[in-house]
Amino acid sequence: MKQRTHTWLALRAIALLEDEGKAPNLVKLLKPHAKDAAIGSWIPDMADAKKGFGDIDNHIFKLKPYDRLGKQRFVRSKEKTLQDLGSHRLITQFIRDWGDILGTDWWQQAYRADPPPGQHLANRSMALSTTLVDQLILGDPKVARLVPGQVRFAHNLAPDSRPRPEEIATYCFMLSHFVADACQPFHCDARPMAGYSAGVHKELEAHWNKLCGTYFEKKKLLKTTDSPHTILEQSREVDQKIGVQFADNVPDLNAKDLWQEVVYLCRGSFTVSSILVPPTRISYRSKTHTTYDAVFKSRNVSPDLLPTLDQAVLHDSVLNIAMAWKNMWKTFS
Ligand SMILES: [Zn+2]
Repeated sequence: MKQRTHTWLALRAIALLEDEGKAPNLVKLLKPHAKDAAIGSWIPDMADAKKGFGDIDNHIFKLKPYDRLGKQRFVRSKEKTLQDLGSHRLITQFIRDWGDILGTDWWQQAYRADPPPGQHLANRSMALSTTLVDQLILGDPKVARLVPGQVRFAHNLAPDSRPRPEEIATYCFMLSHFVADACQPFHCDARPMAGYSAGVHKELEAHWNKLCGTYFEKKKLLKTTDSPHTILEQSREVDQKIGVQFADNVPDLNAKDLWQEVVYLCRGSFTVSSILVPPTRISYRSKTHTTYDAVFKSRNVSPDLLPTLDQAVLHDSVLNIAMAWKNMWKTFS
């Protein structure tokens, strides 16, 4: 996803946690730094000048059919896939409503992603979330006041070595980036047509950027003098434009940890990508590209497809970010 969308998603996730009211100190940690920490939500897509490269292939989980020994492990039935995603996610309903295009054969096939460990979307999410828990434990007095419990060795730490709320908030926003990317269908499909610059992927993200609005554009946001309260209010106002409503409830992860949860999300996203561009149209081996207009605007496509997809992906991204943050915070409750 693009910068504006990533920023809106993370800000809206803070607002969701605020509305839910079950982790008030987590909100107190994030909300005051919403503007300055927001950069964390787009950093992962920025060129890394020190390494001399940097692009979105830094963090991937692109599935494709898998036909080697042990493939049975990577077959996931429709029932299990929907169960892993859970009824609180709109993508579950999307797959139910639009998924008939994938026949039974599709569900019997094994699919696997095999990114290098350092680029693995679930690895990156899990690593960051685990580090954040450590940062919360070692946090400076401002952080310590918000995190429940006592850390007996805290006074032995050099004051400068203890993470500040601003740092922790920035890394939370970085975590939001990886979680959100797992929700972008074309981010999780290994076909060349799903590549960022191949057409539909980039065009769909431009469409989402428009929906989120210019308020969240980095040039504007970095300069805003609006209070954190106003920034979160602005994030809530986007709901109407997308046509989503959030339940004031941020559930626990379905999986045992965030690694597994992100794998579930990527699997769901790959399913959605395969619904939008069925393998009967562009096979998993094909190098053919497609466009946003061909996928969403052609005559034989229902006009409901795109708005339903927008709602499912954007709603779930916000919810999943809030779930990932709350899961990290749960360590202390
Ligand atoms: Zn990204």
